[in-house]
Amino acid sequence: MTDIHFSLDAAHDLATTCLKSFGCDEDNASAVADTITAAERDGAASHGLFRLPGYVAALKSGKVKGDANPTVKALSPGVLQVNGASGFAPLSHQRSREPLAACARAQGIAALAIVNIHHFSALWAEVEPLAAEGLCVFAFTAYKPAVAPTGGNKPLFGTNPMAFGWPRSNGNPVVFDQASAAMARGEVMIAARDGHDLPPGTGVDDGGNPTTDPNAVLKGALLPFGGHKGSSIAMMVELLVAGLIGEAFSFEAAERDNNDGGPPQGGELMIAMDPSRFGDADGWAQHADTLFEQMTAQEGVRLPADRRYLNRERNIREGITIPESLHTTILGLMDGA
Ligand code: NDP
Repeated sequence: MTDIHFSLDAAHDLATTCLKSFGCDEDNASAVADTITAAERDGAASHGLFRLPGYVAALKSGKVKGDANPTVKALSPGVLQVNGASGFAPLSHQRSREPLAACARAQGIAALAIVNIHHFSALWAEVEPLAAEGLCVFAFTAYKPAVAPTGGNKPLFGTNPMAFGWPRSNGNPVVFDQASAAMARGEVMIAARDGHDLPPGTGVDDGGNPTTDPNAVLKGALLPFGGHKGSSIAMMVELLVAGLIGEAFSFEAAERDNNDGGPPQGGELMIAMDPSRFGDADGWAQHADTLFEQMTAQEGVRLPADRRYLNRERNIREGITIPESLHTTILGLMDGA
C-alpha cells in the first residue's frame, strides 16, 4: 500500500471539507481542521487525519453539534468557564485562549474550566500557543475508562493525559504531554494483532493478575504508568476535570456515551500562570534556561517536544504523507455524506 502526499494546506482543506459535509459550520470545521493539521505537521499522526472517521461518526450520530457556539464567562476573578455547547473541543479553545491569557496576566494565575465538550485530540496543541505567549500552562482531560486503579482489575480511569508548557525567551516552549496509562490502548491492540508480548507492567487480566499477553489485557485493564504514583495522577486528573468543575468522571462519560466511535462528552481544566508575577520578574527565563542547559549537556538527553519541533520543520518544508487506505476511507466517508 502506498502513501499519499499532501501539503499541510491540502490536509487542512480535506479535513474542513469532510467535516462541513457532515454538518460542521465554518468555525467548527476550521477549528477541528487546525487541530488535525497541527498533529500531522508535528508527526503526531494518531491525532491527525486518522481521527476524521471518529469525528464524522460523532456528527452523524448527533452526539456532537457541528454548529456549537461556545461561550466564555468569568466564574470568579481568576476562574473562567467556557461552555462548549456540546461541540468538539477546538473551537472552545480558540475562543477562550485570549481571555485565559488576559486573566492570567491580570491576576498572575488563572484557571479555565472547559465544560460540555468532546475532546478527541492531544493536549500539547492547547498548551503550546499559551506558552508561546509567555505563560506557564497546565492542561488536563479525561476520557472513558481504560485504566484500573493500582491494586484493581477493572478499567475505571480514562487514559487521562496532562500537559505542561514552559515559555522560553529564545525559542520554542518546552512542552510535555503524557497519558497516565502505561501504554495507549491502541498500541495494545496492535501488539495483539501482531502477536507481540507487552512490556511487564502494562496491564492485568480480568482477574487482576499481571500479564504481558495483549489479548488478556484487552479483556482486563491497562495499568497506570509508574504503579501507584501514576494511579494517583490519574485520580487527580479525574478530580480536576470532573469533580472540580462539575463535569463527568470517565465512568460517567462512558455511561452517557453512545459508543459511536467519537469522543464522549466531558471536561478539561487549564491553568495558566504569568512567570513575571511570581517573584523573579527579570530572571525567570534565564534561570530556567540553566536547567535546560544542564539537562541537555548530558549525552542522550533531549527536551520534551523537541521531537515534534524537528518533525514540524521538515513537514512544513516537505508536506506530509498519509496511508492510501486512510485517504480512501476519508473519500468514502465524503461520498456517503
Ligand atoms: P508519549 O509517551 O509518546 O510522550 C509523552 C511525552 O514525553 C511527550 O511530551 C514526549 O515529547 C515526551 N518524551 C518522549 N520521549 C522523550 C525523551 N526521550 N526525552 C524527553 N521527552 C520525551 O505520549 P503518550 O502516549 O503518553 O500520550 C500520547 C498523546 O495522546 C498525548 O498527546 C495526549 O494528550 C493524547 N491523549 C489524549 C486523550 C484524550 O482523551 N484526548 C487521552 C489520552 C491521551 P515528544 O512529543 O517530543 O516526543
